[in-house]
Amino acid sequence: MTEPRDRDDIFDTSRTFAELGLAAPIARAVAELGFVHPTRIQSQLIPVALRGRDVLGQAKTGTGKTAAFGLPILHRLAQEPEAPFAALVLVPTRELAIQVTREIREWAKHTPLAAVAIYGGQPIRTQAQKLEKKPAILVGTPGRVMDMHGRGLLPYDHVRIAVLDEVDRMLDIGFRDDIRKILGALKRGPQTIFVSATISAEIEKLARSYMKDPEKIVTAAASLTVNQVTQSYLPVEPWDKRRLLLHLLKKETPPLAVVFCRTKRTVDTVAKYLSDKGIEAHAIHGDMFQNRRNKVMDELRAGNLSVLVASDLASRGLDVEDISHVINYDLPEDPEVYVHRIGRTARAGRSGVAWSFVCPDQGELLTAIEMLANVEIPRLEYQDFQPGPVPDDVRAQRELDDKRREQRAVQQNRFATTVPVVEAAAADPSRYPGGIVPIAPPEKRLGGRTKTRRR
Ligand code: ADP
Ligand code: MG
Repeated sequence: MTEPRDRDDIFDTSRTFAELGLAAPIARAVAELGFVHPTRIQSQLIPVALRGRDVLGQAKTGTGKTAAFGLPILHRLAQEPEAPFAALVLVPTRELAIQVTREIREWAKHTPLAAVAIYGGQPIRTQAQKLEKKPAILVGTPGRVMDMHGRGLLPYDHVRIAVLDEVDRMLDIGFRDDIRKILGALKRGPQTIFVSATISAEIEKLARSYMKDPEKIVTAAASLTVNQVTQSYLPVEPWDKRRLLLHLLKKETPPLAVVFCRTKRTVDTVAKYLSDKGIEAHAIHGDMFQNRRNKVMDELRAGNLSVLVASDLASRGLDVEDISHVINYDLPEDPEVYVHRIGRTARAGRSGVAWSFVCPDQGELLTAIEMLANVEIPRLEYQDFQPGPVPDDVRAQRELDDKRREQRAVQQNRFATTVPVVEAAAADPSRYPGGIVPIAPPEKRLGGRTKTRRR
């Protein structure tokens, strides 16, 4: 059970939505969805955004950032509902574009405002038809947005509000140029609202270069992860990971687990391994056809899946109510990604569990994650699992490494004998006729040091 104190961490129970001053049709839709109190980020960000001010908002995962930018957009556009292409929301993944569009439509249902998702993988023609209707709100991934703009189907000149959801992802190296092109082409100098659960100082600086004197709102107190998620790590050797995963899924039977792997290939092999062992697991990653991706997401939302094996495609923004467990099969290389991954559970005040597999050489990475998130991730003692023997190829490799290390030690020793040569000379001058005593090994030998093995 979640303590009420923890819910107060997320919700501003001193206020109701009615007090935020949203236009009546929007307030009504929100009430129908059962939103009573705004979350803290909503309570602070919405009034500022309603005044037309630029806002940079940071709040933990699952605390309602979508509504924090979505409701002010609707409120502002509701005053002029026939204005086409008036709001542009940029998000990092197609799945998120679909989700955010769906949410905005819910909140807009008592207004004439329309929202359309623009993302890759769907036929251009389908989306062109949607754009012909001149919707007020566009939610898209940068590539397809630029494409549609280039085709003259998506004009930028009416954009009055521009949003970057997951702003740190949108401004990191992969999307940075696209965002620069899109935001740089917005002529009217729109109101900007940028949000994420993680915003580094570097990203904040870059973000500010696109904003006019933004108000910064941070509700993430102390740690970056919500208290409602119970985090722990399990030490494991790389070769035992699959068996440990299977073991955990069988023993703990999580109702709905998302298993994150580092590469698309691992996603496929892990999903297949689980299926072969009788666990119904589905995969999602960026190399799958969009149709298939959408189908998996629909099944996930319908509650028909129990294990989803995913790449970091699914690490950001996705809001699926019943994800009970997040399992980091591979630790993410970027500590910020950890915060987003485990944020797929314990949303809107619910509780959840996050387990991370940590290999013996990943201690530093785990510490980096703990430092960024500002939490201590305790070790989960899982007595019940029997680690397997060291596989032959690993043992062979280790023996080879040991041998190399020995050889290196021998070679280094040879140098060692040449260094005290001066003392040797002093002890036995007859060895160095003419009194010429080398004080260093010859050049060539220095250059010919044992090779370091670079990986
Ligand atoms: P974030 O973007 O901060 O990770 P989301 O915007 O996806 O979080 O919201 C998480 C969930 O919380 C969604 O299912 C949303 O419908 C729900 N939610 C948002 N605001 C409220 C609220 N004020 N009261 C109840 N539920 C809310
Ligand atoms: Mg979000």
